[in-house]
Amino acid sequence: MKIICVGRNYVDHIKELDNNKPKEPVLFLKPQTAIINKKQPFFIPSFSNEIHYELEVIIKINRLGKFIQRKFSHKYYDEIGLGIDFTARDLQLELKKNGLPWEKAKAFDGSCLIGNWIKKSDFNNVDDINFKLTKNEEIVQNSNTSLMLWKIDELIEYISKFFTLKIGDVIFTGTPSGVGKVNLNDNLKGYINDNELLSINVK
Ligand code: ZN
Repeated sequence: MKIICVGRNYVDHIKELDNNKPKEPVLFLKPQTAIINKKQPFFIPSFSNEIHYELEVIIKINRLGKFIQRKFSHKYYDEIGLGIDFTARDLQLELKKNGLPWEKAKAFDGSCLIGNWIKKSDFNNVDDINFKLTKNEEIVQNSNTSLMLWKIDELIEYISKFFTLKIGDVIFTGTPSGVGKVNLNDNLKGYINDNELLSINVK
């Protein structure tokens, strides 16, 4: 399986990182080795002094697809969840400055947390989902999928032009504002409405 991530998909987050609003979705990949085993903590890697959490709504692909038209996108996933795209922000800034690929900052071992899944059929509208992240019980990210620049169905159409989607692939749909640094012994919890879908300790 592969993990396809969307960058710069919420205007408020683009502003907080001082990035330009893209004309098309920004895509990058994480390998399967980036996934954190459930029940394991997030271990701060030695190569970074500034690891950020990015809470994102994620979807799991349930059928093979290529060149998917937007009107059919909804048939390609039936589970929605939350994930954290852990990012070595210091390294990423350095790579961006030099025009280099982001993988070392975004795709390292342990950079991907995938939480529990909810059936898509439990939602009236996937483009109106409230989600939030707490750090040590304080809300640090709080948003709604209606604020995405490119909505889930548009992302599936766009991504499948470049990458064949396979069963089990996961799409990270971008983070809203409120990203920040993790510190030793932090606890992060992610919620859709009031359902806790993920919880992780930082070590
Ligand atoms: Zn992200």
